[in-house]
Amino acid sequence: MQAFHYQALPVDVHFASAQMNNIQDILHPYGYQRILIITTAGQQAAGERLFRQIQDSAVAVYPHAVMHVPKEVAQQAIHDAKHLKADCCLALGGGSAIGLAKAIALETHLPIIAIPTTYAGSEMTTVYGITENQLKTTGKAEQVLPKVVIYDPELTLNLPTEISACSGMNAMAHAVEALYAQDKNPIISLMAEEAITQLAQALPEIVEAPQNLQAREQALYGAWLAGVCLGSVGMAIHHKICHSLGGRYQLPHAQTHAIMLAYSVHYNRHADIEAMNRLAVALNVSDRDQLGLAIYQLNQKLNIPMALKDLGLPATAPAEVAGIICDSPYYNPREYDYAELEALLTKAYWGQAPA
Ligand code: NAD
Repeated sequence: MQAFHYQALPVDVHFASAQMNNIQDILHPYGYQRILIITTAGQQAAGERLFRQIQDSAVAVYPHAVMHVPKEVAQQAIHDAKHLKADCCLALGGGSAIGLAKAIALETHLPIIAIPTTYAGSEMTTVYGITENQLKTTGKAEQVLPKVVIYDPELTLNLPTEISACSGMNAMAHAVEALYAQDKNPIISLMAEEAITQLAQALPEIVEAPQNLQAREQALYGAWLAGVCLGSVGMAIHHKICHSLGGRYQLPHAQTHAIMLAYSVHYNRHADIEAMNRLAVALNVSDRDQLGLAIYQLNQKLNIPMALKDLGLPATAPAEVAGIICDSPYYNPREYDYAELEALLTKAYWGQAPA
C-alpha cells in the first residue's frame, strides 16, 4: 500500500433531522453566552427564529453576509462583533454566511458554530476567502475551522431546487477531486466515494420532490463527507478553473462547479486509474470514457444550466482563463497546457457534451 498521511479535523459534528427543536440543549455544553448569529439577508428570518430559541445566550442576528466575503463587509462585521462583545459566531446558512464568520474568526479568534443549509462544505475546512478589488484571496488558518457543526436536513427542505442541484454538484466536485488528490489517502477516498454515491442518488430525488426528507438527509450526509474531503486533501484543476472563473468574472460559485465538473472529469478520465474506477463505481458507470458524459447527463436531469455562457461568461473568457491558470500552475493528475485548457473551457462555454 502507498504511504499516506491522514489528519482528522477536530470538529464536533451533530447530524439529525429536527434537532433544531433542541438547539438550546445542543449548544448549552459549549457555554457560549453572547452568540452572534450570522446569515445572508435571505436567511434573516431563519436567523431571527433561531435567536428567539436561544435568546438567553445570543446577542444579535447579523444578516449581512454576501457571496465571496467582500473586504468592506468583513471589516464592518469584525467591528460589529467586537462592539457587541460576541463570544462566538454562529453561521446559519451556506458558504456565504460561514465565510463571513470565518473572516471574523480570522481576526478575532472567536469560535465558530456552523449550521449549514447548503451543500458547499465550507464548514469542514480551514480555508477562508476575502474579496478585494474583484480579486478573491484565499488562505488557511486553524482558527477559522468551526468548533461545532450542526447538520439538520430539515433546514434544507426549502433550499430552492436549482440551488440544491448546483450546490450538490459543487459538493460532488470536492469528493471527485479528493479521489485523485496529490495527497490522497485511503480514509478520504472511502469518504469521497460514499459522498458521490449519496449525492448522485439523492439529488435527482430532491429535484423531483424537494420536500423528500430522506433524500435531503442523504444529500446533506453526502455533503458533509464531501466537505471533509475538501478540508483534508488538496484539490486539482477543476477547483483551480472554478476559482479563476469566479474571481475574474464573478460567476456564481455552485453553478460554475456544476457545469465544469463534467469537463474536468473527462479531461482526467485516464489520469488516475484507481480514482476513476472508484468514481465509476459511485456513478454506476462501466466505461471511464463515459464518466464526464455521465456527469453531464446528471446535470441535465437536475435542470442545471449546461453552458458557462448561460451564466453570463464572455466569449473571450476561455482564452483568458487558460492564460490565468498557466501563469500560476496548479496540481492536476494529468498535465495540461494552454491549448488544452482553452479547448476544455471552450467546450464548457458552449455546453457541448464532453465525450
Ligand atoms: P450561499 O451561501 O451564497 O447561498 C446561496 C443562496 O442560497 C443565498 O442566497 C442564501 O441566502 C440561500 N440559502 C442558503 N440556504 C438556504 C435555505 N436552506 N433555504 C433557502 N435559501 C437558502 O452559497 P454557497 O454555494 O453555499 O456558498 C458559496 C460561497 O462559499 C462562495 O463564496 C464560496 O467561495 C464559498 N465556499 C468556501 C469554501 C471554503 O472552504 N472556504 C467551501 C465552499 C464554498
